[in-house]
Amino acid sequence: MRPSIGIGLVTGLLLSAGTLGGPPTPAVPASFGNGEALHAIQGLLGRSAPIARPVYKFSTVTLASGTKIPARWNPCQDAITYQVNLDGLTSSRRAAMLRQIRSGVNRLAAADGMTYRYTGTTNFVPQQATLVDAPADIVVALVAPSRTDLDRSEKSLGFGGVQWVAWSGSRGEGAVVTRGYVILTPAGISALPPGFGAGETQGNVILHELGHATGLQHVPSAGELMNPLLTSDAPAGYGLGDRAGLARAGADGGCVQIPNDVQIGDHS
Ligand SMILES: [Zn+2]
Repeated sequence: MRPSIGIGLVTGLLLSAGTLGGPPTPAVPASFGNGEALHAIQGLLGRSAPIARPVYKFSTVTLASGTKIPARWNPCQDAITYQVNLDGLTSSRRAAMLRQIRSGVNRLAAADGMTYRYTGTTNFVPQQATLVDAPADIVVALVAPSRTDLDRSEKSLGFGGVQWVAWSGSRGEGAVVTRGYVILTPAGISALPPGFGAGETQGNVILHELGHATGLQHVPSAGELMNPLLTSDAPAGYGLGDRAGLARAGADGGCVQIPNDVQIGDHS
């Protein structure tokens, strides 16, 4: 029997608390609290645990049976390829931003144990209908939000997400992430200091969105980089809960077993 295959898409975005002005944005987005469980790090969560306990949360896929599973890349695929679109930056700023993004991916790889391979720059802009045809598994694009239909939040610093293929049939059901994307808002990120220091830095924006492209969703803890607000309290790079979630989403979660007759069209 041929498996039934469908695709799905989820997006998360990052808002700056101060840099872009405007009224304070509620820290809990509409997508949070939809019945998905927060994963707390065992041993650190007691009955009187402080509010800032390290946590992580996966984007989830609802399978045909109704079962929810984390949206994960297959960490056993050859490599996750990525390309970078720098169109939204003046040419003099592109080289430094590319180095910073590649450094960010290296930091992501150190946290999730997966292998990423840079395969060049691109003019591709991720959009809902064309993401499946992206020139790499992940595209990181410095383009105005108006150029994509994945999110219309002009005031966000960036947004990112994953697309997956889910299957069901005689050999069971499952899902695997096949595409990831990151949109970095050129005006927003350019207003922040470069580097991977604590607080409102370009590096933290890149790492947050790469977290979405790896299947993480927002958490309310200010101690985690996956908090939906980037503030001066943000850690320097991924926090304890971020790292626990990335490890579990990546190599520590084990291979995703994909039936032979499911074509996922990866780029590796
Ligand atoms: Zn976000």
